[in-house]
Amino acid sequence: MSGVAIVTGGSRGIGRAAAILLAERGYDVVVNYQANAQAAAETVAAVEALGRRGAAVRGDVGSEADVLAIFAAADALGRLTALVNNAGVVDRPQRIDEMSVERLERMFRINLTGSFLCAREAVKRMSTRHGGQGGGIVNLSSAAAVLTAAGQYVDYAASKAGIDVFTLGLAREVAAEGIRVNAVRPGIIDTEIHASGGLPDRVAQMRDQLPMKREGTAHEVALAIAWLLSDEASYTNGSVLNVTGGR
Ligand code: NAP
Repeated sequence: MSGVAIVTGGSRGIGRAAAILLAERGYDVVVNYQANAQAAAETVAAVEALGRRGAAVRGDVGSEADVLAIFAAADALGRLTALVNNAGVVDRPQRIDEMSVERLERMFRINLTGSFLCAREAVKRMSTRHGGQGGGIVNLSSAAAVLTAAGQYVDYAASKAGIDVFTLGLAREVAAEGIRVNAVRPGIIDTEIHASGGLPDRVAQMRDQLPMKREGTAHEVALAIAWLLSDEASYTNGSVLNVTGGR
């Protein structure tokens, strides 16, 4: 099912890889980003080089007004058939007894509320209950949801565990309305997210402890996302697919 896909946080990392792969698979793609307009423009250029239409929309997924603007941009391109709830943040390593309320609110607002708001808008457009013709949603969980990230960022891990429950609950709510909802649970993937949490060497430091002795690539995660959105996954619903190299 092609059509229009929204990839939140599509300017860099896993989101960029997903945007480009979905364009390869025939989707027009709205690339949302928070601040890095140059990176978003590069992703859009890659989408357009594949012969698809692309649009970059700045916006914080944790802001309802911004989410509405992202979806309005998608409406201008055509029928929304896919949402990749990819935008997500980590924070500096801290124990729970050090965490400020500001930190906690930011973490849950972006990682959880943002995904809920985007899914809400997607369901309004895709659900047969609302006159839509169906679609697919893929949420980005994390291996941290299972491993807890104790001593590093349990708030992040908890937000991703919330994504797991959100995925199954939403999948059940809209299963009879033409929408499948799944999640991917990446392990250690080579993107800039680790540096954004103050740990630029995290991937290199962990490499030898990983079962496959290497990190994953954003493209490897994107392949799982694209499969979950595809008709090949037509009976896969409410699933959380580990893309962790066995971690
Ligand atoms: P990344 O390289 O840090 O990229 C983050 C992307 O999200 C960027 O496009 C960024 O936009 C955007 N973004 C950040 N905050 C946003 C907000 N409030 N609203 C909208 N967009 C926002 O991240 P990544 O590693 O690709 O991670 C993507 C997803 O996979 C996240 O949900 C993450 O938790 C999950 N994940 C990643 C790993 C990993 O090892 N990399 C492992 C497990 C799960 P700008 O470019 O404008 O800053």
